Amino acid sequence: MVARPTRLTPPVECVRLYDADSGLDGVIAIHSTTLGPGAGGCRFWSYPGMDEALADALRLAEGMSYKNALAGLPLGGAKAVLRRPEGDFDRARLFHAFGRAVEQLGGLYVTAEDVGTSVEDMQEVAGATRHVAGLPAAEGRAGGDPSPWTARGVFESMRAAARFVLDSDLAGLTVAVQGTGNVGADLCRRLADAGARLVIADPSAARRDRLAAILGAEVVGVDEIASVQAEIFAPCALGGALTAEAVRGLKAKLVCGAANNQLASPEVADLLMNRGIAYAPDYVVNAGGIISVSAEYLGEDASDVDYRVSQIAPRVAALLDGAARERRSPAVVADEMAEEVIAGAERVAA
Ligand code: NAD
Repeated sequence: MVARPTRLTPPVECVRLYDADSGLDGVIAIHSTTLGPGAGGCRFWSYPGMDEALADALRLAEGMSYKNALAGLPLGGAKAVLRRPEGDFDRARLFHAFGRAVEQLGGLYVTAEDVGTSVEDMQEVAGATRHVAGLPAAEGRAGGDPSPWTARGVFESMRAAARFVLDSDLAGLTVAVQGTGNVGADLCRRLADAGARLVIADPSAARRDRLAAILGAEVVGVDEIASVQAEIFAPCALGGALTAEAVRGLKAKLVCGAANNQLASPEVADLLMNRGIAYAPDYVVNAGGIISVSAEYLGEDASDVDYRVSQIAPRVAALLDGAARERRSPAVVADEMAEEVIAGAERVAA
């Protein structure tokens, strides 16, 4: 998310979560509820302190407002960030306690999976609240792990962006994928099927090495992945991959990946432009997961998700095209479009 002054209001609600019995320790940040309940996943991660967890929650919640608005969803933006306890803990108990906290908000916040959480965790949450998605789906209905939808949206966006930026199909191109978790691994499989060459990095060796063996991907260190020789760089780990230093070292001509908050600071958008590197804005390309979550929460069908996810890549292509014509950063153009959607809804409501 580009942290520049916007027309949006600051977080309407920030709820501190603490329950000594279960080890629950974190925050729910609700950034905007203009378009509907604040929706965004639950991140479960080790943070040095509460300040870092809160900062992450605020950035991620803001990003969800923009993402949901541009995807045309009837949802505001929010996020939960939970600190992973050190040592042993009862995971089921912790997520049940989180579910109780979500329930207390009475539908102001809708949760789902994010980094570090699983379908099983959301099933625990569902024991305490109905304001949760990412649960196993009934036949034909929307639901389940949102990651495959996210990966599909990223893959199709990358294919469309490669045609626009590199005038090429993905076959024969090299893609550097940073992070081979739920989304990154799925994206790698789709890229390998499309004939792309893969270079991957992840500090977690087990999954990374198995994937490399199956797909014939080259493995490099986490410090090298952003600067390897590749046409496309796909950040699929945590936020902030695009620091000024990382951008200076990039050899790729296109950045398109799943991670939220890829730009470490607003100036990085200009740095990318000045270096002639196209940037497919993170929250536009990675909207597949929240599209699935939204449809599940609203009781829609899998076919609705399928259709809406298929609309992501054309949106990305139009955005890149429009930004190039105006010689502006796609990140800034996307932000303005999302702000206009929310401001329009505010005007209607006023
Ligand atoms: P995940 O936890 O399954 O995977 C993240 C992976 O990144 C892990 O394997 C982790 O070891 C790896 N990683 C951490 N630091 C790294 C580093 N420095 N270099 C390389 N790899 C590193 O999470 P996920 O669900 O795959 O999500 C990945 C990203 O996509 C996150 O930023 C998430 O917010 C975003 N996202 C996910 C979804 C979804 O549907 N899961 C939707 C939208 C956005």
